[in-house]
Amino acid sequence: MNGELIETKDALVSAMESIHMGIFEGIKAYVEKDVLGEGKLNVFGWKQHIDRLWRSADVDSLSIGYTKDELLKAVRETIKANGFKKNVYIQPRVWPKVDNPAESHVIVPTWGFETLLGKNNPRFGEKRRFMVSSWRRISSDALPPQAKSWANYANSRLAIMEAKRCGYDSAIFLDSRGFVSEGTGACLMTVRNGKVITPPVSASILESVTRNCFIEFIPDLGVPVEVRDITRVELYASEEAFLCGTGGECTPITSVDDIKLGEEYPGPTTKKIAAYYSDILAGKVAKYRDWLTPV
Ligand code: PMP
Repeated sequence: MNGELIETKDALVSAMESIHMGIFEGIKAYVEKDVLGEGKLNVFGWKQHIDRLWRSADVDSLSIGYTKDELLKAVRETIKANGFKKNVYIQPRVWPKVDNPAESHVIVPTWGFETLLGKNNPRFGEKRRFMVSSWRRISSDALPPQAKSWANYANSRLAIMEAKRCGYDSAIFLDSRGFVSEGTGACLMTVRNGKVITPPVSASILESVTRNCFIEFIPDLGVPVEVRDITRVELYASEEAFLCGTGGECTPITSVDDIKLGEEYPGPTTKKIAAYYSDILAGKVAKYRDWLTPV
């Protein structure tokens, strides 16, 4: 935190800090096994994530006060100090100092997480019932979803709480035009007539690192990807749908507004994509090794 390696219990700030004005990133480091079965960690999509943090800072007029290389060094030191042997979630956070808003606090918390991916992972196939939220996604002419600000998640919370009240697991937003936007913390992809379809950046989505990578690697599987607006009814008519994001990885969706998607759950295309993504994250796909930064 602010250039020092400290225990979480000592990472304290005044309750008067403007934390709601902050920006952040959600990044993951995955274990790659060597021939002896020993693991080393690689950060996935570091460059894209750190560039987005800088973009968010520019949009929100925040000054980060460190270089991108200094933040990578902080990530490496924090992971080493924790002695993590398993997958690690990394969440750099930046917010303006209350007594000097021209400067920011910068903290890089890290913690272990359980992946949804991997062969025979029972969590992957769990049933997930979604609803279309009655709350619209924040629009880019009001609170731009392209900047990863904490404030944006107040919109997500409204949708999550509504979904829970209505007995669903989670929600999908429409944008202010009424087209499908994204989930509360991940982007959305649908499968229809053998094609993967995902809404464009102009549909009030976060410019997701995972979505960009999915758009690039999915055609390797012989599945074309179309980036275009999706209507609510098209979503209902999808054979498959899944969320993609750092947190959600590749999360299959069982139904939307109680309309079951397709015949098989999780769908065959979703399974293929998740398995390939899992291999990419584990460093098994040579073509995409440059998406991985060794810790
Ligand atoms: N949309 C929202 C609202 C999110 O919070 C996230 C998670 N960061 C995503 C999409 C996915 O983005 P990424 O793939 O960069 O994690």
